[in-house]
Amino acid sequence: MLTNSLIELDRQHLVHPVSSFRGHEARGVRVLRSAKGATVTDAEGRELIDGFAGLWCVNAGYGHESVVEAAAEQMRRLPYATGYFDLGAEAPIRLAAELAERSPGDLNHIYFSLGGSDAVDSTIRFIRYYWHAKGQPQRDQFISVEQGYHGSTTMGAGLTALPGFHDGFGVPYRWQHKISSHYIYRNPLKTEQEIVDASVAELKAKVAAIGEDKVAAFYVEPIQGSGGVLVPPKGWIKAMRDACAEMDILFVADEVITGFGRTGPLFACEEEGIVPDLMTTAKGLTSGYVPMGAVFMRDHVYETIAEGAGAKAVGHGFTYSAHPVSAAVALEVLRLYEGGLLENGRKAGARLMAGLETLRDHPLVGDVRGRGMLAAVELVTDKEKKTPLPAAVQPATRLFDRAWEQGLIVRSFAQGIFGYAPPLCCAEAEIDAIVERTRTVLDLTLEDPEIRAALA
Ligand code: PLP
Repeated sequence: MLTNSLIELDRQHLVHPVSSFRGHEARGVRVLRSAKGATVTDAEGRELIDGFAGLWCVNAGYGHESVVEAAAEQMRRLPYATGYFDLGAEAPIRLAAELAERSPGDLNHIYFSLGGSDAVDSTIRFIRYYWHAKGQPQRDQFISVEQGYHGSTTMGAGLTALPGFHDGFGVPYRWQHKISSHYIYRNPLKTEQEIVDASVAELKAKVAAIGEDKVAAFYVEPIQGSGGVLVPPKGWIKAMRDACAEMDILFVADEVITGFGRTGPLFACEEEGIVPDLMTTAKGLTSGYVPMGAVFMRDHVYETIAEGAGAKAVGHGFTYSAHPVSAAVALEVLRLYEGGLLENGRKAGARLMAGLETLRDHPLVGDVRGRGMLAAVELVTDKEKKTPLPAAVQPATRLFDRAWEQGLIVRSFAQGIFGYAPPLCCAEAEIDAIVERTRTVLDLTLEDPEIRAALA
């Protein structure tokens, strides 16, 4: 009863992010009541394994009392402090120092936002300011990668390269450009090295076409998340980073998903030993308990902006930048990561990848890919031709619903791709259940008349 009235209130008043308004009205909301570890419980008392850590954010898992206590204690003592007027609070100062110590190279200066989108937006503002300060204001063109996702503020949505975030919104802007994704599974090039070389060549050609002295920055995700969990070829990130250095273009790593243990190390950039000029994070920073994002800047970026501004204020900031409660949560979450969660995530990630690999023999599985606790299974109706599932199946909702019925939450992308990002705290049995339940979902999907027809 209570659930029914909530469903009705939701339908009438709550606008859901990235949803078909009409579709959502018809389907209604599924209300979640509580969660512990990697398990969430819905309003009817059904337990499900959260194979997607909320929205790839609850990296530490649910229900850590020490995190709750850190937030409560900060709220009791000092729930808010602005960073304006040279003011501050202990927790964000300590957090910035802890993060700078752990980040690659000299990414020593940290600006806190409220999430990933406004972190990305902040980088665009800082980068424009940087080039003005360097006496090159004409460097105002930005390049990102097809299939990429960089948030849904207006500027970030323009860097994003997923049509649903553009259509009807008047983005991308004319100063926002794209190069092709590496998307190994669907790339016509045969070897990983060929893909790396082609991407470098395409970036250089794009810069030449725009004008060598006009490009401000190039954005990448170390693994493309919302585009379908696309893992680049080995050496791709480093090659792109080197190309940017060669062309004097700032290189931005968007680690909003990949940061904080998702792929194994604290930051995915570490895997190829690169240091981006700027790096964005959010999600796992606070493990989703409260909102927060962070922009990391290298010394040279910070110094250039500082010198350029002189005594003037750099006019960028939010009321809730460096929120003390979020910072207190992030400090505690960091302690948990380093107290065993990163280690557990690495072991669980290896088990997840090995488990998902066993699904390759299934008639519907075209590709299995991922790194650590970030993975995808791409479904096809013809393995040779790599034919995507028919649109009539409406993979996004149908596959999600079917997994839900099996007690599993996974992301289901419109193209028929399952995305996995379980909490790093998962036990072996939970990882095994994620894989087993996926196989059941695949078997049931094989029974769909539309799928049977497409297979025939
Ligand atoms: N950048 C990347 C790579 C993301 O995956 C996301 C969100 O999924 C964002 C930016 C935007 O973050 P938020 O949803 O916290 O605004």
